[in-house]
Amino acid sequence: MKLSSFGEKFTSQSGITTLMDDLGNALSSGSDMIMMGGGNPGHIPEVQERFRQRLEDILADESQFKRLIGIYDPPQGEKEFISHLVKLLNNLYGWNLTERNIGLTNGSQAAFFMLFNMFAGDYDDGIQRKIQLPLAPEYIGYADAGLTQNFFTAARPSFEYFDKHTFKYHVDFEKLHITEQTGAICVSRPTNPTGNVLTDEEVSRLDKIAKAHDVPLIIDGAYGTPFPHLIFTDATPIWNENIILCLSLSKLGLPAARTGIVIANEQVISSMSGINAILNLATGSFGSMLANDMVASGEIISLSKDIVCPYYERKAERAVKLLGQGLEGYPYLLHKPEGAMFLWLWLKDLPISNQELYERLKARGVLVVSGHYFFPGIDDEWQHKQECIRITYSQDDEVVKKGLAIIAEEVKRAYDSK
Ligand code: PLP
Repeated sequence: MKLSSFGEKFTSQSGITTLMDDLGNALSSGSDMIMMGGGNPGHIPEVQERFRQRLEDILADESQFKRLIGIYDPPQGEKEFISHLVKLLNNLYGWNLTERNIGLTNGSQAAFFMLFNMFAGDYDDGIQRKIQLPLAPEYIGYADAGLTQNFFTAARPSFEYFDKHTFKYHVDFEKLHITEQTGAICVSRPTNPTGNVLTDEEVSRLDKIAKAHDVPLIIDGAYGTPFPHLIFTDATPIWNENIILCLSLSKLGLPAARTGIVIANEQVISSMSGINAILNLATGSFGSMLANDMVASGEIISLSKDIVCPYYERKAERAVKLLGQGLEGYPYLLHKPEGAMFLWLWLKDLPISNQELYERLKARGVLVVSGHYFFPGIDDEWQHKQECIRITYSQDDEVVKKGLAIIAEEVKRAYDSK
């Protein structure tokens, strides 16, 4: 079968397809695989109960039920939900949004595909522009989203060390080069895979740099604030006409509803909605209808801050403690877990690569993600790319404990073989 270059590019093996295949196969085979690889949120009983109630209310109301299953939304998304969101965000932050500043997509992943290809690729002036990631490691799901090759440029981070086992990446502004070839700047905050939260100062500098170069700053808040607020440190939300803020209902507990939320200037929202109409006709309304009343009442904020955030923060603390006990005496480093649902483990001078460690762990029934996937835009040799793994701690405590013990055993075995 002959394929176009689009067909070739999007069917060749990519990090995200390998990851999703691995996860899907392990889950569907009914194996006892310990899943510490994906970004699936935990199943938080209070959150699930809240959505169950809402669904029951919808089912009990004939007109709402018809609305849920029987109507195409406009390409920009469910109007009432958007209107509640506008009010909520204006009340919280005074952003002066109107209904024309918000668009919904089938998951924020779909939004990144549209936005990235709106701002990077071939331009009429003959320049091929790219998405600049100010700091890599960065989200694996971006890496293959470009319709053309060589879609990203990224800068290596600088390192801050807190003690011999804890570090944090920072944007290295000396290495950040925004040029005529930059189409947009993009950061995830909190960052998948590291759990890093860019400081307010870093974000404000990026905002100024983006404005000065007349390119948008895309902030991926899939784990961010105000919801689901998987943030264990101080981080001020920021938005202005040059910032494209992408939120999602997935990590709140609705990954299957596929609801992404894009907050941007009117021109971006109307362009993205046009693309959305071509790709999808309409955005699914399931997520917006399920979350509609909690956005209207503002409860989504308290649910995020009082239930969802503490759930993950406690899991993060526990995972750090357990892994620290398991690796005592070994030269491991963990990125300070400031948010999201991952530990980023840096194994300096490990005698085997992270891919090999991943294989060994898989053979022992534990799925993690090898860190080398998370450096889109950094093509040069860098030992660090082979020394890190991402561990998801969102699943049940006992499962996580068992997985961390096996990870510690395999890491020690690798170091001991030196
Ligand atoms: N951004 C980041 C950083 C993510 O980790 C994910 C999913 O794991 C997404 C975006 C996409 O999420 P969704 O499409 O479910 O909104």
